[in-house]
Amino acid sequence: MAELVFLGTGAALPTATRSNTALAFLPDVAAPGLLVDCGGDIYSALLKADLAGDALSDLFITHAHIDHIGSLPSLLESFRLGGRGAALRIWGLREVLAVAHRLIDAFDFELTLDSWSFPVAFAPVAHGDTIQLAGMPARVVAMDHTVPSAGLRLDLPGGAVAYTCDTQPNANITTLGEGARLLITECTYLRAQEPYARVSKHMTAYEAGQQAAACGAGRLALVHIGVGDALDAVRGEAAESFAGEVLIPNDGDRIAL
Ligand SMILES: [Zn+2]
Ligand SMILES: [Zn+2]
Repeated sequence: MAELVFLGTGAALPTATRSNTALAFLPDVAAPGLLVDCGGDIYSALLKADLAGDALSDLFITHAHIDHIGSLPSLLESFRLGGRGAALRIWGLREVLAVAHRLIDAFDFELTLDSWSFPVAFAPVAHGDTIQLAGMPARVVAMDHTVPSAGLRLDLPGGAVAYTCDTQPNANITTLGEGARLLITECTYLRAQEPYARVSKHMTAYEAGQQAAACGAGRLALVHIGVGDALDAVRGEAAESFAGEVLIPNDGDRIAL
């Protein structure tokens, strides 16, 4: 059975219990999976989830904010030191891959990918592309954040699973998550912080619920939690606008897809 691992569930500022948001999607076969984003101490999160080594074949980077891409050089170095042998394909919008290259180039005395111990390839994507990520059919959908950002829709056996990445509410979310059995959205703020959500182009819990309802999603999972321990308030505000089940996963949680 396919599985989703919440490697990190926090916003840009980590807390003692929530690292920067990152997800791993493991396909419904004994095959390598997909990592989405690589901020914070992503390699430790992979180790805790038993997903280091060659367990992941693809990395999709949703956007080039530090909490989503900032640990790319150390992830590659940790993979090398950890003895990785399998190829890694890194996907992202062109603007995102440009930042990835600049990050890697900053360590060119150490990260020389042309003589790397495992092959690293880069694959640019654009809004509307349909691609295969770790063997899973995926659609790339542009989101509305302060930098170019892309959400992902995975069409898995049993129904679609979609992840918005960082974004404010926008019409593309209904394309991304239409009829999805699970919609994963960011949830950086509560309603009282809505002015901050507009400036930084994030979502409140109420807005996340609205988006899930507009999609006709079966369940809603909230990540990129930016309100500390105010989880009852998050759940309550999301439930005002979405009648389905609302999950607020913790770092390391796994769910079957
Ligand atoms: Zn973020
Ligand atoms: Zn962001």
